[in-house]
Amino acid sequence: MQKLDLLYTGKAKKVFKTEDDNLCIFEYKDDATAFNGEKKGSFDGKGIINNQTANLIFKILEKQGIKTHFVKEISPRETLVKKVDIIPLEVIVRNVAAGSFCKRYGTAEGTVFSSPTLEFSYKNDSLGDPLINDYHVIALNIATREQIEEISNLAFSVNKALIEIFKNIDIKLVDFKIEIGFDSEKNIILSDEISPDTCRLWDIHTNKKLDKDQFRLDLGEFADVYHEVYKRLVEKYPSV
Ligand code: UDP
Repeated sequence: MQKLDLLYTGKAKKVFKTEDDNLCIFEYKDDATAFNGEKKGSFDGKGIINNQTANLIFKILEKQGIKTHFVKEISPRETLVKKVDIIPLEVIVRNVAAGSFCKRYGTAEGTVFSSPTLEFSYKNDSLGDPLINDYHVIALNIATREQIEEISNLAFSVNKALIEIFKNIDIKLVDFKIEIGFDSEKNIILSDEISPDTCRLWDIHTNKKLDKDQFRLDLGEFADVYHEVYKRLVEKYPSV
């Protein structure tokens, strides 16, 4: 499958059309951004490691019955995916307090929640991706009540699966962000990527941050921890 017109350039990847209207190609870049694009960085091979990490996770999730956009990895940094109409929401699930949750509510980082939380941000860079509640989502015709229910159930199913996957490689899943879209048959499916760019992952034994917080907080092991997460995943799931 050939890359045709560039459809979209995001912060960490480019999306291309293909000759099949129902399929796109993701090309992962080495770039990283944080704080709504204010902080910029990169490391050589980040796009490759994120492509491979996201694909491995999506394949494991598919095996567990979660529908994703993943079709086929076509090169180290390119993947064929189903074309979806992305719902303009960042769907965030948290098991442990960190990041903006701590800032917003004054909760100590590391506080374990008695049950997972779910929140939506409205995907709009010029507004800084503001938090949005269910009523606003419905009022703005972003999704119906029933779709919000389906999106929430999918997010919690992904959380349950990811907690186990990461537990198996001695990693605590603190929080993550997913994006969800409609495929050509109007099914709601998991899209975008799941990687250390989009999750907070702490080593179970040491609580070391194995995710983008290495970059956000200048902790010095940005590239190393991305490689570490991928290495642990392929060692545990070699034949997926
Ligand atoms: N996240 C993301 N993209 C965003 C915002 C958040 O992937 O645009 C992820 C982030 O990496 C973390 C989780 O969602 O795993 C929760 O992020 P939070 O709301 O705490 O925001 P942050 O502290 O990253 O500003």
